[in-house]
Amino acid sequence: MAAGMSLLGAAGCQNPFDGADPPPAPVPDAAEAGAVGAAPVGSPSQWASASTAPTATPSGAPSPTATGSPTATGSPSAQAAQPVQPVHKVLTQAEGKPVYELDPSRKVVALTIDDGPDPRYTPTVLDLLQKYGIRATFFLIGENAVQHPALVREIADRGHHIANHTWTHPDLRHLSDAKVRDELERTSDVLFKTTGRQPTWFRAPGGDWSDASLRIAADLGLRNMAWSVDPRDWARPGTSAIVDTILKDVRPGSIVLNHDGGGDRSQTVAAIKAYLPVLVDSGYFFTAPPN
Ligand SMILES: [Zn+2]
Repeated sequence: MAAGMSLLGAAGCQNPFDGADPPPAPVPDAAEAGAVGAAPVGSPSQWASASTAPTATPSGAPSPTATGSPTATGSPSAQAAQPVQPVHKVLTQAEGKPVYELDPSRKVVALTIDDGPDPRYTPTVLDLLQKYGIRATFFLIGENAVQHPALVREIADRGHHIANHTWTHPDLRHLSDAKVRDELERTSDVLFKTTGRQPTWFRAPGGDWSDASLRIAADLGLRNMAWSVDPRDWARPGTSAIVDTILKDVRPGSIVLNHDGGGDRSQTVAAIKAYLPVLVDSGYFFTAPPN
């Protein structure tokens, strides 16, 4: 099981979620108001100060954001001739390992939403997140993203973090290296072309990483995000079961797994509507990697 499998090492290791969250000892009421109530989604948030540090490369190479920015792509003719190939950060071995939880000393949760986008569910999820001023991470499937580019852009425009969840959602353990690379690379490429953002986080379908997928993800500048709270919403256990599992299992530093694609996700949407206000009222912050 993912839960409790691996705390993300000691404080100070290379988890970009560390140090990017709210101040360590905020006044609870003020912190809640600042992080959850007042900050509009998409505005500079607690992540703002962290957005440059984790992506800076030791060699001083330009960040993916700068490279991918329309203003950095040179003349229109150059753009037309060839899309700019983003520069990837080279990951250290420690950075290449899946992250299961964030710093447990902060009352922070990372909400991650997989398998979309899906026009039936994603817009409602976005509205719920906006209602509570929450940034989440969307692990998008490439073949869904290419069918719904406007929805991908809307997720990004609303300030959420866009991440890579392969092109076709295969079990990566059974694919050749070349196929794994194709699954990851195509997806990063389409997300970059659609949003102008180079994905920096990856999640293996089912959480089934392989040595090859870890190596190839690192090669593509993708860190690996697992989870620590899994309500198995994809199996449609009932809205109340999803809510109960999340409220029972969430603790400071949790990474929560939900799904807005891959089937009927109406239970998930109803559960999000029910559990978000409870977690917010309990004083949790919500966080996502910087964009
Ligand atoms: Zn998935």
